[in-house]
This record gives sequence, structure tokens and C-alpha cells, in this order.
Amino acid sequence: MHYVIPSFDVPSVPVVGDDRPFPVRHIYCVGRNYAEHAREMGGDATKEPPFFFTKFADAIVPVVPAAIGRIAYPMATRNLHHELELVVALGIGGADVPAADAGELVFGYAVGLDMTRRDLQNEMREKKRPWDIGKSFAQAAPIAPIHPVATIGVLSRGEVTLLVNGERRQHGDLSDMIWDVPHVIEFLSKLYRLEPGDLIFTGTPSGVGPVVVGDRLEGHIDGLTPLQIEIVAASP
Ligand code: MN
Repeated sequence: MHYVIPSFDVPSVPVVGDDRPFPVRHIYCVGRNYAEHAREMGGDATKEPPFFFTKFADAIVPVVPAAIGRIAYPMATRNLHHELELVVALGIGGADVPAADAGELVFGYAVGLDMTRRDLQNEMREKKRPWDIGKSFAQAAPIAPIHPVATIGVLSRGEVTLLVNGERRQHGDLSDMIWDVPHVIEFLSKLYRLEPGDLIFTGTPSGVGPVVVGDRLEGHIDGLTPLQIEIVAASP
């Protein structure tokens, strides 16, 4: 295919045990899916239906095992936050998918970071404007390789831990999610027809906070390849 301007690659994420990558179509994210994080963001933890936001597909930064991904401190913010999350990769699409059938859509899981320009998010929230600029920007979604569900099975519990410069900042368990993965898929698939290649960031446990240039972040979820990144200065 020839285009009127130079084309670009489909964003993709490595897959453990397969030399073929997973192509990324859409990135959906769940807001406030752990009670303690909902409280630290000034909300309450009552069980309301989940809400969603999105990131650009090319905000993905795939980080290969044992490597340290380099993320440039983004423009237009003075308060970049980490949110460590379980990412669900969909291999099959669907709309109006009941939770009981949602597992069929899941291709696999990965450790991801929902990087957030918190100052912009809060400013937009206060003005009742969309959050997009706080959540969707270049390199806003670092991600470790995807483990196929066919090899590791369904993940519904397991520790979630984020270290910054070796110090524990976030900690929780997948079983603490207010809405589990099947119910997240049920709700999301009432709003959008989900497609193969979609990623869902499933929310973060408490302990979110700022990072600065030079910080090393290490995200762990039981059973998955850890995610390591370093924040570097933006090139001038
Ligand atoms: Mn998040």
C-alpha cells in the first residue's frame, strides 16, 4: 500500500515463548479499581460500575525481558505519576460479552504502567473537562512481554508490587480489584465492540506517586515477567 505521507508500524508487544509479537489496536484503562487507591484519589470505595479512559495505541513502550526501558520525562507536566497495573491482552473481540464468557476473549497478561501527568489530570478534572491530556501522551504505557493464558492459566490473584529505586511504593493483590477482569470486560464491551489486539489496563493499587529523571521503576506481578524502566531527560 502506498500512502500520501510515509506510513508507520503497528505498535506491538513481545509475547513470551513466541517470536511473533502481539499487535496493539486500542488501549483501554479502568479508573479506580482498587478501594484504597480510590480513597487516595479523593473518591470513595463503594461499588459503582467501573469507568474507563483510553490511551493512544502508540503510547505503548514494549520492554524486553531483563532490559531497562527508557522513558523520556514527558512534556507539559511537573508531576508525572506511576500506576502499576495488570494488563489484559485480547485475542478475540466481542460486544455485550457476559462476565461468564469473558475469559474466551483473553489472549494473555502483562505487567504495565499507566503513566499519568497528574497535574494535568487534576486540572482537567476540576474544570470538568476530559482527562485525556493527563493520561494519553507519548510513552505513557510501558509494558513487559505478554504471557499467553494458554501457558500460564487465568490470573485472578497474585501480588502487585512497584519499587522505585529499590523502595516499595505500591503494593496490592489482584484479588483486591473492585471489578475483576471478567466483569471489566463485561462492562467495557457494553460501551465498545472489543477487538483482537485491544489492551485493557485494569487499574492500580494504592501508593501512586511522582517520579523524576533518574528514577528506576520495577513492577512485579506474580507469575509475569517484571517491567523495568528508567526515567530519562527529554532530548532537547
Ligand atoms: Mn490507572
